[in-house]
Amino acid sequence: MTLQALVVGGGIGGLAAAIACTRAGWEARLYEQAPEFSEVGAGIQLGPNATRILDAWGLGEPLEAVAATPQRLVVRNAADGAELSTLRLGAEFGERYGAPYLTIHRADLQGLLLAAARERGIHLKLSCEVTAAQPLADAVRLRLAAGQEVEGDALVAADGLWSALRGHFLADGEPRATGHLAYRSLAGQARLPAAMRSQDITVWLGPRMHLVSYPVSAGERLNVVAIVQGAAKGSGRDWDQAAVAAELRAAAGPLCAPIADLLQAMPHWRLWPLYDRAPLRSADEMARGRVALLGDAAHPMRPYLAQGAAMAVEDAAELGRALSTAAGNGMEVPLALRRYALNRWRRCARVQARARRNGEIFHATGWLRQGRDWSLRLLGARLLDQPWLYR
Ligand SMILES: Cc1cc2nc3c(=O)[nH]c(=O)nc-3n(C[C@H](O)[C@H](O)[C@H](O)COP(=O)(O)OP(=O)(O)OC[C@H]3O[C@@H](n4cnc5c(N)ncnc54)[C@H](O)[C@@H]3O)c2cc1C
Repeated sequence: MTLQALVVGGGIGGLAAAIACTRAGWEARLYEQAPEFSEVGAGIQLGPNATRILDAWGLGEPLEAVAATPQRLVVRNAADGAELSTLRLGAEFGERYGAPYLTIHRADLQGLLLAAARERGIHLKLSCEVTAAQPLADAVRLRLAAGQEVEGDALVAADGLWSALRGHFLADGEPRATGHLAYRSLAGQARLPAAMRSQDITVWLGPRMHLVSYPVSAGERLNVVAIVQGAAKGSGRDWDQAAVAAELRAAAGPLCAPIADLLQAMPHWRLWPLYDRAPLRSADEMARGRVALLGDAAHPMRPYLAQGAAMAVEDAAELGRALSTAAGNGMEVPLALRRYALNRWRRCARVQARARRNGEIFHATGWLRQGRDWSLRLLGARLLDQPWLYR
């Protein structure tokens, strides 16, 4: 008998999980509360640890067609513009890790996963908010806002940072405000002055702020994210607030001319208050019985290692491996999900902790800042490369 996975959430994590379940010989039903699959208008970096998995799923070529392949990661001082360090990406990096480092528009990645999910015959249910979940002796039951109930052999909660299902199973409170605000903007490169167009990832480090820019949409658009420190306005759940460049300028402090000009040239700034949770402490926080948490629902993290979505894709791949051992045998499901959690939680916790530490280093002031710049100049690419993460 084919086992049924109920996946809640149609973001990058939920779609990847549903694909992995069907690759493991399961049927997957995905429930998304929104009336359509949509991602915010922003970019995402995908390290080789994520692109390797997507390639193995047959998505490598379409991914490279819509993504950009940045040639370098360049780190600069935000106050005077001086280059601190460079890591070569492009073909050399791709060969080293057996998969490329790509930058992509979120909607393009979601579109590819959605097309793959449709091809695999995954049941995709839109406008379906899941309001409750109940473990049964040999199944799991979901209640939908419209009143229906559905049962399956396993539940994958991929319902994001504000996961209601996590609340049901862990009851460990809400995510915490980080005190960091992400301002983001996207522009066609052709509309920008020539000096601002770029096919590199550029990171500008300033006291209590940093800014990252990189190409997306096959290199045709430039994505810019500036992160400053400040209190969130309004609800933390609103991750797409209107913003203006002047507000960002005031919060960012003194900036060199190239960044000040870039902030001015970019149209339509949006604001995204950042929330996270403490790193996972045990496998129990990722799976219990027939319920598994995946992606931001399990381990929301600060974006300073550019790995939140990549960890969701890695989770999905591991979930697929674990579920394949239970395919056709419903009694094995809790054991398979336990294996998933045991194989994932330490790595996710490490990435959460490193992302947080990176934020402190990026935003350093005083002596720490001077030490950081000195180390970057001296050690260069050796500090920027992350073999423990990308292999
Ligand atoms: C500024 C910033 C920059 C980032 N940059 C990067 C990067 O460069 N690289 C990277 O890998 N990661 C990055 N991330 C992290 C990445 O965006 C997230 O980790 C990733 O998108 C999480 O995907 P998810 O599917 O787990 O959650 P989400 O994308 O939040 O998806 C959850 C889905 O569940 C649905 N849902 C919620 N509740 C219910 C319910 N009750 N019933 C039904 N559906 C429900 C929601 O509508 C949503 O569609 C960044 C994050 C930020 C904030």
